[in-house]
Amino acid sequence: MDPAVPISPPPGAAEDPVERIEGSLEAGVLFFCDHAANALPQAYGTLGLTKKQLDSHIAYDIGAAWITRHLAGIFGAPALLSRFSRLLIDPNRGADDPTLVMRLSDGHIVPGNARIDADEIEYRRTHYWQPYRAAIAATIAEMLNHGSPPAVVSIHTFTPSWKMRPRPWEVGILWDSDPRFAKPLIAALVKDGFCVGDNEPYDGALRGDTLDEEVTRLGLAGLLIEIRQDRVGTKEEAAAFAERLGRLLRPVLACPELHCRAFFPSRTGRHV
Ligand SMILES: [Zn+2]
Repeated sequence: MDPAVPISPPPGAAEDPVERIEGSLEAGVLFFCDHAANALPQAYGTLGLTKKQLDSHIAYDIGAAWITRHLAGIFGAPALLSRFSRLLIDPNRGADDPTLVMRLSDGHIVPGNARIDADEIEYRRTHYWQPYRAAIAATIAEMLNHGSPPAVVSIHTFTPSWKMRPRPWEVGILWDSDPRFAKPLIAALVKDGFCVGDNEPYDGALRGDTLDEEVTRLGLAGLLIEIRQDRVGTKEEAAAFAERLGRLLRPVLACPELHCRAFFPSRTGRHV
């Protein structure tokens, strides 16, 4: 058997797949970070990748965990972060998305995923993807029980260039069709001097992604913030960036219309 083919760890051996930051259930905002970590459970080794590859953007969103933890601290809010690399299984894809486990990432073959079968995908979904999603759903349910609906922020980072083309945006706001949170935050970021991507570098309408499934579907005001990795490459830079972002988020989050449930026709084609 090719040693690069993953072997499922025995039940119960999985490390806790979720980092939970405690915060006030009445904070009015919840942060989560799908691509926080580049860690792999011991049984998977390195998935056949080099340390350099595992330290790169293909394994996680560089700087995103620092920003998420810092923002949670500023707002005294709960936060949930994945503790496993998206190369194991991507928490920000729908349960049946064909890119849930990447065989190839940014031109790199992932040997440990190359010949993965349906049983192994199901194993990873059950032991990593699902507990992460369930932790977000449970925290949102608790916050709803404790008061008015929270606004929800998903934190990601992106590479400064893609396929040899530089990306001009310092920060991107990704959203589907609920303008309550995205529009005022984009305006605040532009006013503060940021080069802002409105649904750039990616479109925020992605059926089954974490925001769609756990937030938009419930009628909560949410958005995804993408930050260019060269702005947050060190812990100090990430903290400074989070402070600036926090100052801009605070007045937007104070708006009462972000704290009621409202439903907007999704651009994903989802009807519920
Ligand atoms: Zn990401």
